[in-house]
Amino acid sequence: MQPYTDRYSRQIIFPGIGRAGQARLANSMVVVIGCGALGTVAAACLARAGIGRLRIVDRDFIEYHNLQRQILFDEDDVRNQIPKAIAAERHLRKANSSIEIEGIVADVNYRNIERLAKGADVILDGVDNLETRYLINDVSLKHGVPWVYGAAVSSDGMTMNIIPGKTPCIRCLFPTMPAAGQIATCDTAGVVSSAPFIIGALQSVEAIKILVGAEDVSRDLITVDVWTGAFERLEIGDSPSPDCPACQGKYEFLDARFGARTTYICGQNAVQVVLPSDRELSFEELARRFREIGQASYNEFMLRFAVDGYEMVLFPDGRMIVKGTDDESLAKGLYAKYVGM
Ligand SMILES: [Zn+2]
Repeated sequence: MQPYTDRYSRQIIFPGIGRAGQARLANSMVVVIGCGALGTVAAACLARAGIGRLRIVDRDFIEYHNLQRQILFDEDDVRNQIPKAIAAERHLRKANSSIEIEGIVADVNYRNIERLAKGADVILDGVDNLETRYLINDVSLKHGVPWVYGAAVSSDGMTMNIIPGKTPCIRCLFPTMPAAGQIATCDTAGVVSSAPFIIGALQSVEAIKILVGAEDVSRDLITVDVWTGAFERLEIGDSPSPDCPACQGKYEFLDARFGARTTYICGQNAVQVVLPSDRELSFEELARRFREIGQASYNEFMLRFAVDGYEMVLFPDGRMIVKGTDDESLAKGLYAKYVGM
C-alpha cells in the first residue's frame, strides 16, 4: 500500500468517504477563521483527515487560560509568545506534513476577508464575535462558498451549515446583529471544554460532508448541552428568506466601511484597536522607547509592553490589544499616546 492510502485507510473504508471522497478532500481548501477552542478542534480534525489546503486565520496570542480548551496549544507556545495561527500551523505540520497548512495572523475585517477566504471550498467559523460571523456570511453568499457556523459557551453549543442559495443564511434567521450585552459570552458564562470539542468536531465532519458531496449534509441547527447530555436538531427551513438582504445580494456587513476602530474581545477582558490601514511598526525602535517608561519584550510576531498598569500587545500590522480593560476609548487613547495614530 502507498503511504498516502495508509494514512487515510480508516476513512477510505468508511463508505461515506471512500477513495473518491478522499481524493476530493486532497483537492480541497478549507479556511478556518478564528483558532480558539472551536478552531483548534476543527483544524486538527481537518488536517488529520487530509484536507489538501488548510488556511488558519486568527488575530490573537495564547494565554494560560486558553490551554483549558484550545487543544493545539501548549505551555511553550505561551512562554514563547507565539500567535495562535502560527502555533496551530506548526503543531499541525507535525501531525500531517503531506498537506499545505498556512497560519495567518490577522484581524479579519471587511478589508481583508475576501482575500483571506479566496480559494476556499468551505469556510469554517471559529470566531468569538458576531460581527465577523456576519462578514463571513456576506463573503459566503457573494462568492457562493458554503460556511459552517459554530458557537459554544457555558455547557452549550450549536452548529449549522449555510449553503448559499440552498439553505437559510445567518441573516435569514437573525436579520440584525444582536447588540453587545444581549448574548452570553465566555466572559459572563464560562465554558466547559467539551462543548467546543463536540461542536468543533461536528463542524469538521459537516465540512468534510460538503467537500465530498454527501447527500445528507445537515440542514438543521444542531444544539447540544454537554452538561445534561441533551442533543437537539431544529429545522431552520429549507430555503433562503426572500426578505433577507444578504441572500438578495446586498452585502451590508462587507460594504459597511469604517475607520480606526476598537473591539472588545470575548473571554479576555481586552480591547483590540485596529487602524484604518495597515502600517509597519519597527518593534526594535518601539521597544527601545517603551523600555524608558516601562517593560517591553518582543519577538518576530508581537511586542508586549506594560506601562501605567496596562499590558499592551502590538502586532506587525499595527494592531494593538490592550489587556485588563473593557473601555474602548481608553484603549484608543493608549494607542495614540504610546504608538501614535
Ligand atoms: Zn439570508
